[in-house]
Amino acid sequence: TLEPLYIITPTYRRSEQIPELTRMSHTLMLVDNIHWLVIEDSKIPTKQVTQLLERTGLKFEHLIAPMPDKYKLKKGAKPRGVSNRNRGLSWIRANATDGVFYFADDDNTYDIDLFKEIRRTKKVSLFPVGLCTSYGLSSPIIKNGKFIGFYDGWIAGRKFPVDMAGFAVSVKFLHQRPNAIMPYRAGFEEDGFLRSLTPFEPTEAEFFGDNCTRVLAWHTQTKKNNPSLPLNMKIHNNTNLV
Ligand code: UDP
Ligand code: MN
Repeated sequence: TLEPLYIITPTYRRSEQIPELTRMSHTLMLVDNIHWLVIEDSKIPTKQVTQLLERTGLKFEHLIAPMPDKYKLKKGAKPRGVSNRNRGLSWIRANATDGVFYFADDDNTYDIDLFKEIRRTKKVSLFPVGLCTSYGLSSPIIKNGKFIGFYDGWIAGRKFPVDMAGFAVSVKFLHQRPNAIMPYRAGFEEDGFLRSLTPFEPTEAEFFGDNCTRVLAWHTQTKKNNPSLPLNMKIHNNTNLV
């Protein structure tokens, strides 16, 4: 029997939310035994998100985890999706015993083969992500079958210079690391989380995507539509948005 694959998706309310989740749900509907944890950076769950999730037929949890005000009100780069992902981790600790989890932002693009690959994760798997920084790619470098370092446009002293979409973790491995947590530190969320899985070194990772030669996830970013009217005034959007 296939163990569950937990997909932890941070999301927040904006005009692009329902389109992004529609696109992503249609990818996940092509994959077996998915349990989708959709976690909104919001004080109340958005009704249209619940309705969308119910229509997918997927096994899902619709949770909320607002970004604390001290980060929300701060100027400059914010730790986007961190409260959501930590809520996902606490749900997994309380409810999951086996399988694998993966942090999948709502705006990325995922090849369905990615999910086949990552559900084989024994501890922590690492793999390439396309469209990251000006380099166009973030990936472990494998030479003659051996890990020799990371290719990433922004190393910044990180031990794990990887994208959020570039790793997966086994649930059992997480249970063995009760202190693992994602820090509220913009740019260093991935590195902070993977460091918190100590003891764990990059060399111990499983390298997926044909030894990191195949891109199965892309850091696509959706252009902001920036509608000029507030959501609740847009009559044409009544079916999708309050
Ligand atoms: N996100 C969130 N609250 C915010 C901004 C973003 O929950 O205030 C979510 C968003 O839906 C996405 C993830 O956090 O799943 C990363 O955000 P975004 O895609 O904007 O970041 P980028 O890809 O540009 O780094
Ligand atoms: Mn994004």
